[in-house]
Amino acid sequence: MQISHATDAGPGRPNEDLVVTGLDWAVVLDGATPWPGAESGCRHGVRWLVQRLGAALAARLLAGDPDPLPALLAGAIAEVRSAHGDGCDLGNPDSPSATVALTRMRAGRLEYLVLCDSPVVLRRRTGDITVIADDRLARLPGGRPYRAEQVRANRNAPGGFWVASTRPEAAGQAVCGSVPLDEVAEVVLCTDGVTRLAEWYGHSWPAIFDVLAQHGPAALIGRLRERERAQPHPAAKQHDDATVVYLQTIKAKT
Ligand SMILES: [Zn+2]
Repeated sequence: MQISHATDAGPGRPNEDLVVTGLDWAVVLDGATPWPGAESGCRHGVRWLVQRLGAALAARLLAGDPDPLPALLAGAIAEVRSAHGDGCDLGNPDSPSATVALTRMRAGRLEYLVLCDSPVVLRRRTGDITVIADDRLARLPGGRPYRAEQVRANRNAPGGFWVASTRPEAAGQAVCGSVPLDEVAEVVLCTDGVTRLAEWYGHSWPAIFDVLAQHGPAALIGRLRERERAQPHPAAKQHDDATVVYLQTIKAKT
């Protein structure tokens, strides 16, 4: 197993993404930037939520918690919920939140979990690509352009989209499954700051895997930033936090 990663903050703000990896697991979180003027009811920030959630997930993964991934995530969300303390309004839908992309090797299988718009992408030994994505945030009721109240009303609500925040039951809404580990050659976990390369700039997933294999995660983010400077997206911020984990299931050469 070889796991490498890179992350790059969007300019002018602290990085609200997080990567945590172990010998045979990886987690990518993307903290949601609040809408300007939104009242979260929480005395904590997005980075607090992301770091606490990353720590709670890592503790479970390192301990070899045998729970299925949704139960493991639900436990981590419940732990972070308790850590808010009495001073926070945990019923506020604008409470800090994060996406989750998670993979774990267990019992000869590669397990995955995706909650909101940080996908897991597999390249099989056959070369076939499987994109595991949760696209509910991309198709909210009412359509685009999104308004703050529309996003608020649909966050962690049936028919809307689900994120890791104060409600453990959100974990049960994640896209998850597993594949035989020996069928998988490479895995990508990334935030939506990186999926722009595929979705806006037309890079194919095989091409993205090739850059990762030949030049590594930092080079991929470098190419992303070049594209963003050359051809800024008309309807979104020019640069978002960008994080990618690249995992190869190769054995070390002897
Ligand atoms: Zn709080």
